[in-house]
Amino acid sequence: MLAEKTCPSCNADMENECRFCSSCGYDFTQGTPNVIAIDDHRIEGYLTADIASFVDKKSDVYTDKLEAIEQKRITYNWCAFLFTANWFAYRRMYGWAVGIILTSVLIGIGIAAVLITPLTNGTISSEMFALLSFAAGLVLRVVCGFLGDRIYWSRIKKALDLENCKGRPPVYDSKLKQRLGLAGGTSVPAVVISVVAGEIFIQLVTAFVTPAITNMLL
Ligand SMILES: [Zn+2]
Repeated sequence: MLAEKTCPSCNADMENECRFCSSCGYDFTQGTPNVIAIDDHRIEGYLTADIASFVDKKSDVYTDKLEAIEQKRITYNWCAFLFTANWFAYRRMYGWAVGIILTSVLIGIGIAAVLITPLTNGTISSEMFALLSFAAGLVLRVVCGFLGDRIYWSRIKKALDLENCKGRPPVYDSKLKQRLGLAGGTSVPAVVISVVAGEIFIQLVTAFVTPAITNMLL
């Protein structure tokens, strides 16, 4: 392994022979760190640059949204509305993804439990049953859309707090940027897993839990 030195200006690891930092251009022959200033734009005390390092894709869209939240304006996340648990998985909020899949299954079970008797004795039609199930699912989507950006913001802040980013001086730090990138970003495999796992889970519930409840109530 080659000997390494750390750039005093941006924290990047460089091979010992390097005369210049490949990350920030710091001149090692000079010896005096020339700190590289970055944009001091902040949201709730966090540098926009740090937020962007964590968010990665569409970071410009999200910094606008977070700024709106800071100004107590309402934001709406259409991706969270359309893709619900899969969007949370994509943004690597796995606990929320699992929670939403469970909630939607529980809503389905709840609807079936409440409506199975009126459905079988003909008080409501099967179309009405389908419509009510759809409406309940829609409510969950609407809620996800409203909460998506806020939940994401609290996730971002938690990650930035772990790195003590709040109020830090506006200087370029390549290692911090790297760590935030690893902690955040997006995951396509997580989307695939959330789709497949969600589908299997819903089928299992439909196959075993719903009939059991139906038998119990009828
Ligand atoms: Zn450097």
